[in-house]
Amino acid sequence: MALPQTFKAMVVSETAEKTFVREIKQKALSDLPAGELIIEVKYSSLNYKDALSATGNKGVTRKYPHTPGIDAAGVIVDTTTRMFSAGDQVTVTGFDLGMNTSGGFAQYVSVPALWAAKLPQSLSLKDSMGYGTAGLTAALCVLRLMAGGLTKESGEVLVTGATGGVGSIAVAILAKLGFNVVAATGKAGQKDFLTGIGATAVITREEANDTSGRPLQKGRWAGVVDTVGGNILATALKTTKYGGLVAACGNAMSADLNVSVFPFILRGVSLLGVDSVEIPMRARQMAWNKLAGDWSVDLSSIVKEVSLEELDVEIEKILKGGVRGRVVVDLGK
Ligand code: NDP
Repeated sequence: MALPQTFKAMVVSETAEKTFVREIKQKALSDLPAGELIIEVKYSSLNYKDALSATGNKGVTRKYPHTPGIDAAGVIVDTTTRMFSAGDQVTVTGFDLGMNTSGGFAQYVSVPALWAAKLPQSLSLKDSMGYGTAGLTAALCVLRLMAGGLTKESGEVLVTGATGGVGSIAVAILAKLGFNVVAATGKAGQKDFLTGIGATAVITREEANDTSGRPLQKGRWAGVVDTVGGNILATALKTTKYGGLVAACGNAMSADLNVSVFPFILRGVSLLGVDSVEIPMRARQMAWNKLAGDWSVDLSSIVKEVSLEELDVEIEKILKGGVRGRVVVDLGK
């Protein structure tokens, strides 16, 4: 297949004044790193980490100019391995994509074959990015909770940062599986959205953020998916019932955790860490198969679709915790 010499990409550059500017530019295919797969990206999606990379966070991206985008879904147009063939539809999420490797906010990426997951047959490229890293992470949290013994009979499950990408997909998956889901949100006007995707109750961010200083509070949750960290994660641990499970995957509020050992040693609460970036391909493929199969959720009210040009404003919004659900980027627009 003849490949174009240039393609459209978001490029973030550092100025002499140490500020960062985002532009939509033509990049040359030869600018991409040497990789085993060249993928024509059809869809990407916006995750919190992309906004950090797009605004010069050197903890995420060391060198600029850079193209962010930790998610990409598309078609292989060139391959040097036998693991895949030209024409295969794949998703790439995590690993180094969009961090220090040119990412999915572009019409082409070049990656090692081990980063690519075959798209399950029943999932479209667009829906795969409706889930993206956020959906994969939500599925991994639910898998961890269920592997730990959580069932829908165990009791209420709390999801924090519930209107965000990970949070909204976690609410929808848990509700589909019959769990009694309580959504915690800082967005006062989003109760209807959250009940619409399956939450049975909605609590405010303040209710989920105990500032009493007490080491334990009345146990309520059988399970928790926490996407925000900080004192909300500490509160979740203090308010989890005997034997309950807390899956921690995010730090939108804070990366700090100040909690006593009492939830663990008096209530047998388990804190489960969830990572979607380096997780081995077998577990990753299993989560994708779940999302494509009996855990698939109605993405219509969760996903907003934008072009590469329209992405800029969503980047600013997600940094302020202002995005509802997921933003999918259509690279063909
Ligand atoms: P989003 O920005 O889409 O969602 C985060 C949500 O958290 C917001 O919508 C908001 O929800 C809430 N929130 C934002 N700021 C604050 C705050 N200061 N205090 C309390 N709550 C806040 O991000 P994602 O869903 O994409 O990611 C969520 C977190 O998970 C991020 O920290 C991200 O880095 C992490 N992550 C980790 C992964 C892993 O592999 N472990 C993979 C993917 C994401 P509301 O208004 O409803 O309260």
